[in-house]
Amino acid sequence: MNYYIYFFFTAPGKRLLKLEGINNMYKDYMVRATAGNAQIRAFAATTKDLADYARKAHGLSPIAAAALGRLLTGTAMMGTMMDNESDLITVKMDGDGPLKSVLATADNKGNVKGYVSNPYVIMEPNAQGHLNVGGGIGEGTLTVIRDMGMKEPYVGQVPLYTGEVAEDLTYYFTKSEQTPSSVGLGVLVERETLSVIAAGGFIIQLLPFADEQVINKLEENLGKFSSVTDILKAGKTPEELLNIVLDGFDIEITDRVDLNFYCNCDKDRVERALMLIGEKELQDMIDEGKEIELRCHFCNKAYTFSVDELKEVKEKAKIQKNKKAEDK
Ligand code: ZN
Repeated sequence: MNYYIYFFFTAPGKRLLKLEGINNMYKDYMVRATAGNAQIRAFAATTKDLADYARKAHGLSPIAAAALGRLLTGTAMMGTMMDNESDLITVKMDGDGPLKSVLATADNKGNVKGYVSNPYVIMEPNAQGHLNVGGGIGEGTLTVIRDMGMKEPYVGQVPLYTGEVAEDLTYYFTKSEQTPSSVGLGVLVERETLSVIAAGGFIIQLLPFADEQVINKLEENLGKFSSVTDILKAGKTPEELLNIVLDGFDIEITDRVDLNFYCNCDKDRVERALMLIGEKELQDMIDEGKEIELRCHFCNKAYTFSVDELKEVKEKAKIQKNKKAEDK
């Protein structure tokens, strides 16, 4: 399925962002756990490095960094709920706010990537003095696409609840998947440097046979819970975060997964995308006589094509088109 790859044009010669490389090793990780005699399943993650990586790669404003950081965190955890290595999950929030849409895609191994449509939005803080992510996204829809290698991907959609991401995912799980859940996500952006200094979150889900006692105790815990950001800012690990949310339950950590911002784009993929734009458009670019720069939507990595390379791409596109015509 190729809707995971989008490319867009920027002016030739635009200054490139300096990045330390796409596949760096990070300290981010998540844990999976069960609790309450396996009536609860839980996930908790720390994602500071990948959220800050996304901020730098896309040049995100603080509110955009918070929105994407939260969605990357939630999506990475949701990715590990899938069974197969080749499965992909995409979570997209489309709203009428200035950020427009925020999208994240993850596999089940802790690799996640994503972007914000309008990465440079600046907004006043909300009434609580926090980054106004809900206002930035606005009203709209949340779409979850699970591509499990079937002919058709599984698609679930709900209206946005608050646009604050965590509440929207909570609403999605409860409404669309009939799984009572509680999602907490937080991204803390430092005012001076604008870098992400803490990020992470949790997903707590009740299994269908959960008894009243477990439900009540969990509700009590969640009622007392302060904020994910405060807990992560204090340097707590995902395990400690679970200990707080699931205080009083027997917690069994079942799995630990390293999390990375990872994009699998390369020049061949970009070239294949370029071949699809049409012969006339390619000829127009060749006639301009300048090299062009294409950027990957997900990681913002730039790929340049010289005029000679564009001519080659056009030839390849032509051969492919003729081949398709012959096949018919
Ligand atoms: Zn990429």
